[in-house]
Amino acid sequence: MSESEVKPSNFIRQIIDNDLASGKHQQVVTRFPPEPNGFLHVGHAKSICLNFGIAKDYQGFCNLRYDDTNPEKESIEYANSIAEAIEWLGFHWHGEKRYASDYFEQLYLYAEELIQKGLAYVDDSTPEQMRAMRGNLTEPGQHSPFRDRGVEENLDLFRRMRAGEFPDGSRVLRAKIDMASPNINLRDPVIYRIRRAHHWRTGDAWCIYPMYDYTHCISDALEGITHSICTLEFEDHRPLYDWVLDNISVPCHPQQIEFARLQLEGMLTSKRKLNDLVQSGVVSGWDDPRMPTLMGLRRRGVTPNSLRVFCERVGVTKQDSVLELQQLETCVREDLDQNAARAMAVLNPLKIVLNNWPAERIDELSAPAHPQKPELGNRKLFMTREIYIDQNDFREVGDKDFKRLVTGGEVRLRNSYVIRCDEVIKNEAGDIVELRGSVDMDTLGKNPEGRKVKGVVHWVSASHSKPATVRLYDSLFTESRPWELDDYKSALNPDSLVVIEHARVEPSLAEAKPEDRFQFEREGYFVADRFEHSGEKLVFNRTIGLKDSFAKLDKR
Ligand code: ATP
Ligand code: MG
Repeated sequence: MSESEVKPSNFIRQIIDNDLASGKHQQVVTRFPPEPNGFLHVGHAKSICLNFGIAKDYQGFCNLRYDDTNPEKESIEYANSIAEAIEWLGFHWHGEKRYASDYFEQLYLYAEELIQKGLAYVDDSTPEQMRAMRGNLTEPGQHSPFRDRGVEENLDLFRRMRAGEFPDGSRVLRAKIDMASPNINLRDPVIYRIRRAHHWRTGDAWCIYPMYDYTHCISDALEGITHSICTLEFEDHRPLYDWVLDNISVPCHPQQIEFARLQLEGMLTSKRKLNDLVQSGVVSGWDDPRMPTLMGLRRRGVTPNSLRVFCERVGVTKQDSVLELQQLETCVREDLDQNAARAMAVLNPLKIVLNNWPAERIDELSAPAHPQKPELGNRKLFMTREIYIDQNDFREVGDKDFKRLVTGGEVRLRNSYVIRCDEVIKNEAGDIVELRGSVDMDTLGKNPEGRKVKGVVHWVSASHSKPATVRLYDSLFTESRPWELDDYKSALNPDSLVVIEHARVEPSLAEAKPEDRFQFEREGYFVADRFEHSGEKLVFNRTIGLKDSFAKLDKR
């Protein structure tokens, strides 16, 4: 699987192709404009892949620009984590990181330009009065009594707003557009407000801050962005984007293009709701492997490559839709199947003592790290008298569908011999605590004489295996559209995390480094935990099972 294999054209690429063919642009410049007020989620991956991917394919540039106009909600921690997530996804921005706050002075001067042209005014109305005068979808708005202030008075008031002469919220600067416009965004939108908030970059230099719609288009123009790609909720804001740029002397006029947000079954993609999950302790943090944040997916073991391929495959549309989780899972499995080394891990160990195997005998066996990739070499396994198999691979009495070990039956140990179970040892409560059995010594790498043994189970040596903690993750919600619920926390999956403290893993896994990925044969794909795994304490997170789990979600 490669990304180039799946690079279908889409309506955005067609626009770009046309612009290059017509000579409107010689080079493509895009940007990714996150607000540093939270951590990136899987939806952002789509926007990142689109913006950075287009820049890469057209040999253009993609800027990273923090849209930092809301000082109260923003922080450097968020900003750093955003940059980390972009690089993890495999992209890099052009030049230095950029910040809308770098343009505060220019933004201010453009506002003065609008005032000079009679296209902006200072409004002293209260927020309630402004709301009441805005009208609604069926009724036009009304003019504010301050709408016809003269240029000089507006300039004076705006300069004094900047100088800190007025209390927070007492005045705003509004664009003078059209109070009767059917598009409410054009009904004299606020473009500056007074807010004495400490900004994480500009400190206390400013007590007025520009609004998003005003800031965004100008930032795009100042950076020479050619195509300003954003999500559909900004479609109704495009006339404002264009109005601002049409009315000030900016160097260029980028084209805003909207596409549908990425939404996936079972995953919340609202920063506010994700924050709520963290704050209420439902998950261990922003990077909990059940979180749809990029840092959560990373810790879960999802590969950046599979996310890129997923974003390419689902394409770009103008129609909002909810994608099946299976679509992402397929990409993750394909990537891991090709690239994850194989290993054996027994999650629920059941000891079996092989009576005819001499106590001191240790056979060193070898198995390929990857069945299709001999270049990855072999791993060592040790066959000993005492081994572990999984409790789920044994039943006292089987049936014809149970192809694993039963009392008196035989099974093949993967990459090793055929064994049989002769005796079951139970405790006083009647639980199985151990098995006794024997080895057919003539079955290494060949079938036993005169009979067929169908089942194959994974195993580890009791003495030559390592203890490990294994965390089995499942979807956080039992509903496929948790965002539609008033109380999404009522649909939490109680089994979204099962911690197995006493798994046993093959010795080669002691060498695993944090974030190394494996297929634990017959169990699924796992990753060594990015933070908690070490050579002393092995901790693996299940990324995904070997087969589809989508059927488990309650489909609606
Ligand atoms: P939230 O709604 O969760 O607060 P946001 O969209 O406000 O997220 P931003 O930091 O503004 O977060 O997003 C940065 C960029 O990512 C924007 O261009 C936005 O359109 C895009 N984006 C956000 N969510 C999605 C999504 N689900 N699918 C595609 N693009 C998205
Ligand atoms: Mg946003």
